Amino acid sequence: MKICVFTLGCKVNASESESLARALREAGHTVTEKLENADLFIVNTCAVTAEAEKKSRQTAARIRALNPAAEIVYTGCACQKDPAAFLKKSNARLVTGVFDKGKIAAMLEDSGVKIAPERKDFEEMPAPETRRARQYIKVQDGCDNFCSYCIIPYLRGRSRSRAKESVKKEIDGAACAEVVLNGINLSAYRDKNTDLAGLMRYLADTEKRVRLGSLEVRAITDDLLSALKNMRNFAPHFHLSLQSGSDKVLAAMNRRYTAEEYLEKVSLIRKYFPFAGITTDIIVGFPAETEADFAETLALAAAAEFSDIHCFPYSPRSGTRAFALRDLPPAVKKERLERLLAVKENCRAAFARKNFGRAEKAVIEEEDGEYFVGYTGNYLRVYVKKALPCGEIGVIIKETFRDGVRAEIEGE
Ligand code: SF4
Repeated sequence: MKICVFTLGCKVNASESESLARALREAGHTVTEKLENADLFIVNTCAVTAEAEKKSRQTAARIRALNPAAEIVYTGCACQKDPAAFLKKSNARLVTGVFDKGKIAAMLEDSGVKIAPERKDFEEMPAPETRRARQYIKVQDGCDNFCSYCIIPYLRGRSRSRAKESVKKEIDGAACAEVVLNGINLSAYRDKNTDLAGLMRYLADTEKRVRLGSLEVRAITDDLLSALKNMRNFAPHFHLSLQSGSDKVLAAMNRRYTAEEYLEKVSLIRKYFPFAGITTDIIVGFPAETEADFAETLALAAAAEFSDIHCFPYSPRSGTRAFALRDLPPAVKKERLERLLAVKENCRAAFARKNFGRAEKAVIEEEDGEYFVGYTGNYLRVYVKKALPCGEIGVIIKETFRDGVRAEIEGE
């Protein structure tokens, strides 16, 4: 049978879908991860924002346009939140949540709703098949933080982590140049007495480039940074979610750090990795965010010299504490978002300039016309005008180009 596994949302969902695709291939099915005609569709949904949830539901119409007779299995966070909304879709065969995704292949004979009970252990899934230069490796699931705007802890359950031996085995078996360790809350990684710094020490000799997914402010310590510094091939890129530069808004978000602490951690990162790429997420227009609060966010974003900013307007999520707060008018959020996008472009350009003339290692991932395109360790998107095999190569950063920089191969 030809099965399409279509994924929305975060990198954790992407890792889970790749594992699921492997299990289906091993069961003898032909699998595509592009939304194209198939006999059966498995949609791995997302509920992180109202928009993501809406797009998850709208996938049904896109599939009907491709194949009106195809049956659809819905899984993931949006189904965990509201299974009935998916079961009532025409052609819905099975609706499952976020637990026991690894059993979907075995469940294909079933129909109806199967929301598995919350798991307290880490669900091992088959290692994904590597078909890219970079592979995502899920090492943690769930979250205990309960940020006031976030629905994820209610859907994914409490934090649990993968055994370090299993993580190493998957990295060693992956046929790629770079692995990205990710989790819903990677900073909470704990396998018995091994925390995230301990995991990095355990993986120190890994030859493949190792990149980390999103980190919490409190996870940035001398212990973690020195463990990363001692790794054989660590990508010095830190995604450190800020969300707001106002202490008042951070407290209302239940983020458990202040703007000053955030900037201290940015300085600490640069003490160990002076050219680190530091990227962030910022929510614009959280309830009660005043113009003065937002000005603090803009000032912090400029002071932190981010290499990139992922910014988006606040969207209320039913079931969260912040849902009861009065939402700001959309026009206010839109206007603030535009100002933050201008800061983002300045930050991106300044970071590119800081790297001009520097030697970096780039992992080439794809072709774009006459260019080969990849990423440096500090996460600059690099265009190299030369035919290369995929893998890691030395480059010299030259100038700003398209959405990244142009580089030349080192030594040529
Ligand atoms: S850390 Fe906060 S934003 Fe991230 S998943 Fe946990 S509750 Fe949600």
